[in-house]
Amino acid sequence: MRLTDRYGRLIKDLRISVTPRCNYHCTYCHPLGMEMADPPGTVSVEDVKNFIQAGVLLGAESIRFTGGEPLVRKELPQMVAVARELGIDDVAVTTNATALRKRLPELMEAGLRRVNISLDARDPEVFRQITRGGRIEEVWDGIEAVLEAGLHPVKLNAVVIRGMNDGEVVPLAELTLERPLHMRFIEYMHLNNAPFEEYKRQFIPGREIRAMIEARFGALEAVPTDPTSPARVFRIPGAEGTVGFINPVSEPFCANCSRLRLTSDKKIRPCLLTELELDIAWAFSADNPVEALVDAILMATDRKPAFGNTLPTRRERVMLGIGG
Ligand code: SAM
Repeated sequence: MRLTDRYGRLIKDLRISVTPRCNYHCTYCHPLGMEMADPPGTVSVEDVKNFIQAGVLLGAESIRFTGGEPLVRKELPQMVAVARELGIDDVAVTTNATALRKRLPELMEAGLRRVNISLDARDPEVFRQITRGGRIEEVWDGIEAVLEAGLHPVKLNAVVIRGMNDGEVVPLAELTLERPLHMRFIEYMHLNNAPFEEYKRQFIPGREIRAMIEARFGALEAVPTDPTSPARVFRIPGAEGTVGFINPVSEPFCANCSRLRLTSDKKIRPCLLTELELDIAWAFSADNPVEALVDAILMATDRKPAFGNTLPTRRERVMLGIGG
């Protein structure tokens, strides 16, 4: 079965947020303060299993676990295993990598194929400021663990913010020269309820980020990619890895969007940049949850908007709560 929405877009990628908690407090993502435990009603392994099973019946091809920080969930390996057992090959985790060295063996044993790691700076002090206290050594240790384990591709994500880490663009791109790392520069989206004027001052379009890299390394070479992938990918001539640009604000890729998100409090968010959420808690507690979740996913797909709102606006939920 192939699931398409009203605009003919194939829906095949499910992002599942497994917790609203995170051990980092990145300025662009997170209000201050971290809950010590997941709130009642947070998705369980059984819920995740039922949701993925419904997704598989509707043709889902990839599952990405996210959060919050998915590695704070001790059951994450069970969730990965469930996805693999249900026949999904492309199972990935988006993480800040701080617990990756410790948890990678159990995640790989469960069948994890890929990780996406957030890395917004190479300079330890800039990194500490953006993450509000993060220690970059922990992240490097996680990245090294993934490279040693031979997982690939290893994608690194940086949200670029003027006056904060724009000086890190060239050093981050440089990482791809000698190592098989795939650096993705993401445009800063207004998903943290920052004051509008401040946000507008701090926003940097992807073309400016690309120009910084080309000014240092010369013209980038295009690398062919899946058209439903949000990243436009390039290579610095001769580099081992790649650099990519995810430009949801200046070059929205809504026309190719193939994603649905499940939040950790059991809501489907058909579009990251639209407030609409469908509370589907009822489906998880139905007599036949898989059947009910198929209905819920169909309903959410039908309501997937043509475009997201990239303008600064008051958000009901910040990124941390949605699951990036
Ligand atoms: N804790 C994990 C991590 O650090 O990758 C997963 C959750 S995080 C919300 C997922 C992704 O969302 C990260 O790559 C992060 O950079 C991105 N993100 C968060 N807030 C963003 C914003 N305001 N604009 C653009 N990307 C954002």
